[in-house]
Amino acid sequence: MKTIKTVNARRMILRGLGRRCPFCGHRPIFDSWFKLKESCPSCGHRFNQEEGFYIGAYAINFAVAEGLLLLCLVPYIAISSANPELRLDAVPFAVVALLLAVAGPIFFYPFSRSLWIALDMTLRGGRNLDDSWKDPEEKG
Ligand SMILES: [Zn+2]
Repeated sequence: MKTIKTVNARRMILRGLGRRCPFCGHRPIFDSWFKLKESCPSCGHRFNQEEGFYIGAYAINFAVAEGLLLLCLVPYIAISSANPELRLDAVPFAVVALLLAVAGPIFFYPFSRSLWIALDMTLRGGRNLDDSWKDPEEKG
């Protein structure tokens, strides 16, 4: 088993939040806002470990979108239920929530991917396993 080096979890997650390679900290790892490179230009870590790898990134992005919705709607519910005589209009809160629900995931998209890569590497113990977990015959 090939182990190149280890990086602590906190550092990897901070690098992931900064859209950097969680393993070496290299930036940029994106060709554009929506296109992640296949591997890190500096250390060569292959980002897409397997088919369906980024479902975790989608889950992170979804959670962020839901959190943004809650940030808009919870204050409305709290204020209007505590003070029903105010008769707060829900439309401004709903419009802001809708805008955040659309713009939030677009903005957070690359962060969710690099954060997911960092979380995945954290779960793997901070080791850049790259090809070492594959069947030797598969490597070619
Ligand atoms: Zn790297």
